[in-house]
Amino acid sequence: MSIVIKNGRVIDPASNTDRLADVLLIEGKVAGVAPNLSSPNAEVFDATGLIVAPGFIDMHVHLREPGFEHAETIESGSRAAAAGGFTSVCCMPNTKPVNDSAMVTSYIVERARQAAAVNVFPIGAITKGSAGEELAAIGAMKAAGVVAISDDGQPVMNARVMRRAMEFARSFGLPVIQHCEDLTLSAGGDMHEGLQSVRLGLRGIPAASEDVMVARDLVLAQLTGARYHVAHISTRNAIGMVAYARGRGLPVTCEATPHHFVLSDADIRPYDSDFKMKPPLRSSCHKDAVVEGIASGAVSAIATDHAPHPGSEKMQEFERCPFGIIGLETAVGLALEELVRPGKITLNRMIELFTTGPDSVLRLGRGTLAPGAPADVTILSTDVSWTYDVNRSPSRSRNSPFDGRAFLGGPMATIVNGKFAWRRD
Ligand SMILES: [Zn+2]
Repeated sequence: MSIVIKNGRVIDPASNTDRLADVLLIEGKVAGVAPNLSSPNAEVFDATGLIVAPGFIDMHVHLREPGFEHAETIESGSRAAAAGGFTSVCCMPNTKPVNDSAMVTSYIVERARQAAAVNVFPIGAITKGSAGEELAAIGAMKAAGVVAISDDGQPVMNARVMRRAMEFARSFGLPVIQHCEDLTLSAGGDMHEGLQSVRLGLRGIPAASEDVMVARDLVLAQLTGARYHVAHISTRNAIGMVAYARGRGLPVTCEATPHHFVLSDADIRPYDSDFKMKPPLRSSCHKDAVVEGIASGAVSAIATDHAPHPGSEKMQEFERCPFGIIGLETAVGLALEELVRPGKITLNRMIELFTTGPDSVLRLGRGTLAPGAPADVTILSTDVSWTYDVNRSPSRSRNSPFDGRAFLGGPMATIVNGKFAWRRD
């Protein structure tokens, strides 16, 4: 029932720790971080040359259960999370049925208890059926275990509904997570509107469709005092507006995905649906703004928006196939290679973006190695060589643009509530 992780470089941004030490885990809790720790019968993990961090949190995944188990399940998606270095994930409510009631929330919580490899925190819908009209049972879902509300996949288009949702969420102490897309501007689009969409002859989704929604919501967030979070932020203006609101003291946050800080619309392989997602891959000017926002603190969390779709759906023409890619197993490697290695952010900042950052939005009481905290630990290497082979993924879906990519650095082991959930072989 106990594990001692020996001789690692322990980085815990929550306590400003960055030093060589051992980490002792006993009965599902962090018992201590100090040199030369031991405990009778403890399993010893030699972390010499490795980084030992609080368990990483992915605040935006789609686990597809209930209703779309051919694409992913709580079991398969959570195993992909563990293999990606995550110890906690938050699952979006666009299942079938939509998680808009305490009954569906309880089902997810119970399935996770039986089958999940990592902690699973459900996010409830903002509106019934995520149809954007009537508010979902927010209080009952909160009592059943949701940690936020969102209609992700769909924006809440009606400003009056959004205002009411923010008022309710505030009274229940929940953040509101918006998929920012003004459908009247984006309708029919398949990729970012710009030179590349003209070149490929595909219909565009303008950056303005995101900007307009963020602007409106920030006005409503100020009006209501709600905690407001922008999912998968992707435009220069949206990041600027969030930074402005944060500077004025509003409880406003945003997350960025690895694909939006690694890829631009110039990287799209023509007709390859693994490059189709919402928001779309933007032009390099927007991509650079995402990286700058991550470095400056405007962006609080890296989240994958892991969105499994089975091959039968993704193997269609670009215009017809659904939006979204899987991302749980590549996120940490991409952040290490594309952000830390080139010096755009420090390793400590990267760990913040996967731990205290998302925890500050969701208040899970995780993302720290403080004594007594849940024994969730992510162990990393900055120089392990590995290649991502999507066909070996625990996920039930294969829609990744990073298949076959060689990485330098990535997760080595994941410990959830004091037990190994995954180890690199
Ligand atoms: Zn979304």
